[in-house]
Amino acid sequence: MTDRVYNFSAGPAVLPVPVLEEAQKNLLSLPGVGMSVLESSHRSPHFTEIIETAEANLRNLLNVPDNYSLLFLQGGASLQFSMIAINFLGGTEKPADYILTGSWGKKAIKEAKREGTVNVAWDGADGNYNRVPEASELKLSDDAAYVHFTSNETIQGVEFPVEPSVGDTPLVCDSSSDILSRPIDIAKYDLLYAGAQKNMGPSGVTFVAISDRMLGKAPEQMHALLDYNLMAENKSLYNTPPTFGVYLVMLVTKWLIEEIGGLEQMSVINKQKASMLYDAIDESGGFYKGHAQLKSRSNMNVTWTLETPELEKEFLDEAKKQGLCELKGHRSVGGIRASIYNAMPVEGVTKLRDFMATFKESH
Ligand SMILES: *Cc1c(COP(=O)(O)O)cnc(C)c1O
Repeated sequence: MTDRVYNFSAGPAVLPVPVLEEAQKNLLSLPGVGMSVLESSHRSPHFTEIIETAEANLRNLLNVPDNYSLLFLQGGASLQFSMIAINFLGGTEKPADYILTGSWGKKAIKEAKREGTVNVAWDGADGNYNRVPEASELKLSDDAAYVHFTSNETIQGVEFPVEPSVGDTPLVCDSSSDILSRPIDIAKYDLLYAGAQKNMGPSGVTFVAISDRMLGKAPEQMHALLDYNLMAENKSLYNTPPTFGVYLVMLVTKWLIEEIGGLEQMSVINKQKASMLYDAIDESGGFYKGHAQLKSRSNMNVTWTLETPELEKEFLDEAKKQGLCELKGHRSVGGIRASIYNAMPVEGVTKLRDFMATFKESH
């Protein structure tokens, strides 16, 4: 325990210590079962209970209406880039609208283009992806199959304060890096997906919430593992799901409910953590330069630069000596990125904030 650092990795990312401890405690034998979850059939009664609890916890936390199916799939958020387009864009004459606010949105568009017409409804390239659009800036199609957006761009550190309003067009969201960080009105989304490894669990599980209306639009005769209806009908058990990952999602969601008290509370803590770092940036007199514009600042990934790459390297090296790790910005944008997901304790962020102040003083 004592050698754990503060891990600001963007993903796979820090997990709550009580979750890791419970998984460790039960690794050799689930209580009363006599075997590890790693050794258990996905059709065993005890795994059924685990996956049903994970789903029930998610329904509770996200306040999911009954007309949505919750799925635990594989292939990461990246497979959803393709699966969404294959199901809902391929085979239609309609375009799909994509709101482009950073690197992940760009990757989603690349896959969608293989299937049909993509209308980029807004592109943040001009500002080097430092903000999300105003509603008035969106150039939405009249007849789009869906509108896709990335609620939090993990690499740029740019987050939608609230989902874009798109009328009756199905709204599709890549929520990989801010799912469960705050309450959302899921009824406004027809399909919401997230790789688990940022805020829900380990890599290998992809969470999908999909409405009945969207399921009704999915084509028949789809390849089994790309078939949302088949996955929903089989409650994610058509083939072997990522069982250990689902187990950890169950533990993480239980932690959110029992220890944190739900997403309202989580959101308060997350805002408090993010403000500490943004204040440190704003009060540094330009020593630290934040990437995101004020209204688009992410509460999950805080990104900034220093005057020179040399100074940034020194910052990273000294931070690491203090146990503040994985702060290097994504290789595509450089600078510093502090990922402060749900499981990052307030103490870790406080320590980083204090370090930022001392580093600035000594330089
Ligand atoms: C990490 C991330 C992805 C990629 O997820 P994989 O599970 O690695 O495919 C996609 N979108 C966002 C917003 C992410 O943060």
